Amino acid sequence: MKVVLIGPPASGKGTQAQLLEKYLNLKHISTGDLFRKIMKEDTALGKEVKKYMDKAMLVPDDLTIKVLKQELEQIGNNNFILDGYPRTLNQAKNLSKYIGIDKYIDLDVGLDNIKNRIENRRICQRCGQIYNKLIDNIDDEICKKCGDKLVKRKDDKQDIVVSRYKEFEKLTKPVIKYYKDLGILKTIDGEGSVQKVFENIKQYIEEGK
Ligand code: AMP
Repeated sequence: MKVVLIGPPASGKGTQAQLLEKYLNLKHISTGDLFRKIMKEDTALGKEVKKYMDKAMLVPDDLTIKVLKQELEQIGNNNFILDGYPRTLNQAKNLSKYIGIDKYIDLDVGLDNIKNRIENRRICQRCGQIYNKLIDNIDDEICKKCGDKLVKRKDDKQDIVVSRYKEFEKLTKPVIKYYKDLGILKTIDGEGSVQKVFENIKQYIEEGK
């Protein structure tokens, strides 16, 4: 099974992908996580990626397409969930050239809700597990999965999230329209509880299996 999850920043893509990873035994591929790892490396590629990540801008398509393709080749192009890719029409068209996706899902969440979520989002600095301070009982700021420290993402700031949302509207909404016009994308309301959203995703995934 190959699944693509699209949605604005902090729409719950990462959280839902982590749940799907366990449920369907899929490899969770987050281009955001890949880039966060790459930018820590003292390499030309790391420095290049950092330039964009520091400004909370999308990494250019040629580089993103290359990094994703390498990652997919490493896992044998099989059984994965793509979180945060494609984010541009160019990325979407390139992906369909070399791989067939079984399910395309768009998580629909409005900007007010997103602003609220990023205030409370924490991630584990080691394993990337995502938490919400309001629901996950993490007063000790320690990851329940691996015991490492929880941190706020550098790009989880109100002004940054608004500009990332605008970028989403300009560059990623056309991707949603593209898949919708092809009749292959399901929009799921992402504003309910984590469990409710997950139930809806599971139901859609089970359809026509
Ligand atoms: P995320 O963790 O998905 O919110 O992504 C964090 C950051 O990684 C984004 O703001 C971009 O700078 C970069 N990034 C992740 N996925 C992509 C993509 N598909 N295309 C371009 N840049 C990306």
